[in-house]
Amino acid sequence: MKPNVWLTGLVDVLFPPACLSCGGIPEIAPDDVFCSRCRDELVFLDGSLCTVCGLPFPDSPAPDHLCANCIEKAPPYSIARSVFSYEGKILEAIHQFKYALNLAVGQALAGWMAKYPFRGLHPETFDLLIPVPLHIKRLRQRGFNQALILAKGLSGAYDVDINFRCLSRRRETLTQTGLTRNQRQENVRGAFALKSEKDVAGKRILLIDDVLTTGATIGECARLLLKAGAADVGAVTLARVADKPMI
Ligand SMILES: [Zn+2]
Ligand SMILES: [Zn+2]
Repeated sequence: MKPNVWLTGLVDVLFPPACLSCGGIPEIAPDDVFCSRCRDELVFLDGSLCTVCGLPFPDSPAPDHLCANCIEKAPPYSIARSVFSYEGKILEAIHQFKYALNLAVGQALAGWMAKYPFRGLHPETFDLLIPVPLHIKRLRQRGFNQALILAKGLSGAYDVDINFRCLSRRRETLTQTGLTRNQRQENVRGAFALKSEKDVAGKRILLIDDVLTTGATIGECARLLLKAGAADVGAVTLARVADKPMI
């Protein structure tokens, strides 16, 4: 065992990490941030969902099917999947990661994403992972792009390369909170730029982000990538807003 691993183990025994939510010190997995009781409250998206955008149909006994939004207008991406419903404990954890800048939480979340069996989406069949970029001003404020940290977990688990330079956010966008589906699409239209079409042409690309709400952001990225010749674009996010199922 390397000395630093041994030392980390010793520190964990002397000062065990507290649960992110309740602050208790229960029997906790070494790479976890919740105790087993709080972890049991996480809502994994493992029920019936939209075959394309991944919108969950809570309590639906029906198998996976298209949601009303995807029937009305097929999104540019072919498939989107998420690990968690964006509620409760996972909301706290994402907040800790993005706004309290707690990178240990980010690593744990990336670990969950890397291990999750996404239904109908197999990360190893993609050629390239692209994290949804932050505007340079936001990146400087935060010091890291949360989507890149999540992408690194998947990249390690599935041995797929990451390109975090080819796509950039050229315009600062207003917060999407409180906007309607159409307003969200307008808000992100033209917000991204591609440095080199060569990087993406002919490739199957998997976009990575932390939260999917209406899919406007990944839709705009996917549109740009497909215009540049990408063969296919899918998306994986850590969490997904799950309310208002349409069917
Ligand atoms: Zn707890
Ligand atoms: Zn859908």
